[in-house]
Amino acid sequence: MDLIRFDSLFPSLAEVETRTLTIFGQPGLESGDYTCAEAYCPDPHCDCQRVMINVFSGDRRVQYATISYGFVRTAPEAGPYLDAMNPQSAYCVALLNYLANYLEETPEYVALLKSHYAMVKGVGRNPHHPSHAVLTQWRAEREAMLREPARKRHRHK
Ligand SMILES: [Zn+2]
Repeated sequence: MDLIRFDSLFPSLAEVETRTLTIFGQPGLESGDYTCAEAYCPDPHCDCQRVMINVFSGDRRVQYATISYGFVRTAPEAGPYLDAMNPQSAYCVALLNYLANYLEETPEYVALLKSHYAMVKGVGRNPHHPSHAVLTQWRAEREAMLREPARKRHRHK
């Protein structure tokens, strides 16, 4: 599943609506700001109902955790869980626990994530959407990246 960053499709909205958690006095976590950047699957034919939350330091220089969270809470892999394919850190388990509680206690944040998910799917669905060109370019870059190793292998034969 390929995920696109929400802020690459909706930069100005992401600036306002990307959540930063200020965490103090949590065991296993350094006190400070943690920015929860979102990524979604833009495929309009896929009904994955999920967000990937990339937890960065407040200045976004360090990624501390990558957490997958499904909106269908009864689904077997709803999460939240740590995504094994993406960056984690020594803080990841503490962040996962913190975020799991936060999502549980903050239904308006979950509603915001769901609305962002719908917006990203909307871009995927609508070729006339102002952000559709960004998505098209992103797809082309992903495809070029995937083709590259195969071509290299071919040359060495
Ligand atoms: Zn999907």
